[in-house]
Amino acid sequence: NIKIITIDGTAGSGKTTIAKFIAEKLKFDYIDSGALYRAVGLITKEKNLSTEEEIIGFLYQNPIKFNFEDKIFRVYISDREITSMIRTEEIGKYASIVGRMPRVREFLTSYQREFLRKVKKGLVLEGRDSGTVVFPNANLKLFVNANIDIRAQRRARDLSERDIERIKKYIIERDKQDMNRDIAPLRFPNHGYFIDNSESPLEEIYDKIIS
Ligand code: C5P
Repeated sequence: NIKIITIDGTAGSGKTTIAKFIAEKLKFDYIDSGALYRAVGLITKEKNLSTEEEIIGFLYQNPIKFNFEDKIFRVYISDREITSMIRTEEIGKYASIVGRMPRVREFLTSYQREFLRKVKKGLVLEGRDSGTVVFPNANLKLFVNANIDIRAQRRARDLSERDIERIKKYIIERDKQDMNRDIAPLRFPNHGYFIDNSESPLEEIYDKIIS
């Protein structure tokens, strides 16, 4: 009787912090699907891959792997760790580009669903399409958003960037792209719950989710 919690939301909304917190508290497995899209973005850039066929072919030869331990979601291509390399703005853009490719989405969607076989207790899946596409029948589907200035400040802090206005423009642009794409657009999931993560402390949000 495995439980699934999906967490979708806007860029910089703090969904990762919430997702990791819940996963740790409940001792559930955790997937940061954005990190998987970023991993595909990274290899696309590094290997100069241009078609979906090339990307999928490369992924069959060099599988993506991950693990979640001590609050860190580590990502690997074959056995090379790329955890910190994927956290740049540039790779975020590449992730957004590969995220518009149907076959890449199909590939990563199956990959996430297949992981369920390894799950013992429950899974927290975080992303842009986790409650709408990957697991529409999840036990609990959340959608996280926060005030734009707060989101920009958080992202700026994560990236050690001073120019908050530039970051603000960048996250507005990425949300627009993610919401307006033809395939798996960022949407509020059916029967989902809205979480405003502008100011509430994490504990309060957690209690709300549990109740
Ligand atoms: O969440 P994160 O910022 O790491 O995601 C990077 C990008 O990857 C998103 O802006 C989106 O374009 C893409 N993505 C996606 N589907 C997901 C997760 C991320 O298309 N489930």
